[in-house]
Amino acid sequence: MHILVVEDEPKTAAFIRKALQAEGFTVAVCPDGDAGLAAGQAAAFDALILDIMLPGRDGLSVLRRLRELGQRTPVLLLSARGGVNERVAGLNAGADDYLPKPFELAELVARVRALMRRSGEHKPTVLRVADLQLDTLTRQARRGGQEIQLTAREYRLLEFLMRSAGRLCGRMTLIEKVWDYDFDPGTNLVEVYIRRLREKIDADFEPKLLQTVRGAGYLLQQPP
Ligand code: CA
Repeated sequence: MHILVVEDEPKTAAFIRKALQAEGFTVAVCPDGDAGLAAGQAAAFDALILDIMLPGRDGLSVLRRLRELGQRTPVLLLSARGGVNERVAGLNAGADDYLPKPFELAELVARVRALMRRSGEHKPTVLRVADLQLDTLTRQARRGGQEIQLTAREYRLLEFLMRSAGRLCGRMTLIEKVWDYDFDPGTNLVEVYIRRLREKIDADFEPKLLQTVRGAGYLLQQPP
């Protein structure tokens, strides 16, 4: 289980990291909001612990942006100000839980565990990015209410991209997760399938959701 901690106070960040590592989690720490947002977009985490008061972009703004990008990773907000208004703002921005500072590390760990349990139970069956929608039970894709026919492989590719919405997916990651290869077949397989998928989900619609990030991979998201 991989957790991202965005916290600017080195001492607090170090305490949190130690406590979570002792519980068997792996932990990445970012000291400000912009680094936190970049890390949250670049890699898959099982949970985020997000301080509200941060230098640069604050925690609520990071959270709002991640949710706009379609990310559903559970988020625990931390704040020195324990006011009701702030808690409401946090929940409205898409937080799953809220912990006022100062807190006991044992409580933090318990809340993180609860967060991850709940998110496991509520894995969404209908994935959405803008007006693109994928029902993982019926395996039906729709955009703007129009049904889209997918082959089995196109479906797997789209499901993976939608579950990773807002995050960059490298070519090798797609080869592993969608084709189950642990080696690079050295063909343009991925490019061909991305092109086919784009024909189906983007060609006749606006805005374009599936972006190519040159030299890095692919990104499915509602454009900012
Ligand atoms: Ca802070």
